[in-house]
Amino acid sequence: MVAKEVGFVLIFTHMTGENWEEKHKFLWEVCGHEKIVSYLKSAIATDRVNHAYIFAGPSGLGKATVADRFIKTLYCQGQGEYKPCGQCPACRQVEAHTHPDVYRVGRVINEKTGKFYREIVIDQMRDLKMKLSQGTLLSSWKIAIIEDADYLNVNAANSLLKVLEEPTRKTVIILLVSDLSQMLKTITSRVQVLNFLPVSHDEIKDYLLSQEISNDKAQRIANLSLGKPRLAIKMIEDNDYYNTVTTDIKSFGEIFELDMFSRLKKMDSLLDWDKDESINISRLNLLFDHWLMGLRDLIMLSTNNSRLMAIVAGERSLAAGTANRLLRVYDLISTARGLLDRNISSKNVLENLIINI
Ligand SMILES: [Zn+2]
Repeated sequence: MVAKEVGFVLIFTHMTGENWEEKHKFLWEVCGHEKIVSYLKSAIATDRVNHAYIFAGPSGLGKATVADRFIKTLYCQGQGEYKPCGQCPACRQVEAHTHPDVYRVGRVINEKTGKFYREIVIDQMRDLKMKLSQGTLLSSWKIAIIEDADYLNVNAANSLLKVLEEPTRKTVIILLVSDLSQMLKTITSRVQVLNFLPVSHDEIKDYLLSQEISNDKAQRIANLSLGKPRLAIKMIEDNDYYNTVTTDIKSFGEIFELDMFSRLKKMDSLLDWDKDESINISRLNLLFDHWLMGLRDLIMLSTNNSRLMAIVAGERSLAAGTANRLLRVYDLISTARGLLDRNISSKNVLENLIINI
């Protein structure tokens, strides 16, 4: 919470007394995060870009999208009215992750296992430090984006700290962080922390309507998106994903109404079980995600009956559940997800959940 307050205090102090919006036209097309976007635009317009930022918040809120617009605006060479233009070579290079002065660091995949390494290590930071110390190819900004920066191990974090302690001109380091509590205080105290919060239902719906999505679908997707624009966008761009989400929610609606023995009988049909337990765990995580999306939608609806019948249509039977039972099940699923992280057998986790629903 402290970090959030820091973020907003800084936002307000930074924005006072500037009428930059009249001189600069920025078109970022970001869903939500109005204050953060406005703050970053003003930093560019008034030439007060910080040497380092932390974009903090759970995945899916749009941190990478805001970083993308920020970086494109710094480099854009377009002559049109608005920045970024999205069309000039610089915008295209940032988009394609091929810009010579933008360095991206993150967890890398272990070629033997095909999975991400658990940590970002010191060699990656040393490499970054060397790149940042060199002149730019285009005599312009040098930007480093560290994705999953909460996965920096202690040595890597201390190496990064040295870079942060000696900021060089026209260099910006952006740390994308899901869990701010995992970051060293020595780092968070040296950078500008911007906290990304879930985007409101109405902002997501308005954004979807601006993308020419029908009112009914925009309403439905906004309900399901957990305040995460990326989930909403995925649902409009990937119809298979949207269908999977709605199918999973319907399957939950069905088992919710059954007695315990019937629920257990249905258990095997809920997941496409694999011999590889890690695949089962990731599939079960997704299933739980979708159930939580549906449940959250219903919990909100159950407190607003006037919207209930119009929107639930497909899962009308679920409306019979009380808000209390929905909340209890929401907690059960959240707990079950935690058990999956602790390597408890996926079948046991699901069975235990199904019994207790
Ligand atoms: Zn451009």
